Amino acid sequence: MYIMTDIVFDSKYIKSCRKSHTCDWCNETILIFTPATKCQGVFDGKFYCNYFHPECIAAGRTIDQDELEGMTCYFKRGTTEEK
Ligand SMILES: [Zn+2]
Repeated sequence: MYIMTDIVFDSKYIKSCRKSHTCDWCNETILIFTPATKCQGVFDGKFYCNYFHPECIAAGRTIDQDELEGMTCYFKRGTTEEK
C-alpha cells in the first residue's frame, strides 16, 4: 500500500533556548534564553524541525490545520492575522 503523507509529529516546550532561532509563524527572532516550542516531524517523507514563540504556537492551534495547508505567508506574532 502506498501512503502519500506520513506525518510523525512531536512538539516540545523549551524553557530557555540555548541559541536563537527564527519563529516559523511570525518570522521574528526567538532570542537566546527565552522560551520556545520546538516542533519536528516528517511530512511527505521530508524531515522538518521548526521553532515557534509559545504565543505563536498557541495562535496556530486556534485555526483549522486544513486552512493552514499551502500557506506561505507569515503571521503577526501571537495572532492569526496575516502579515
Ligand atoms: Zn513567533
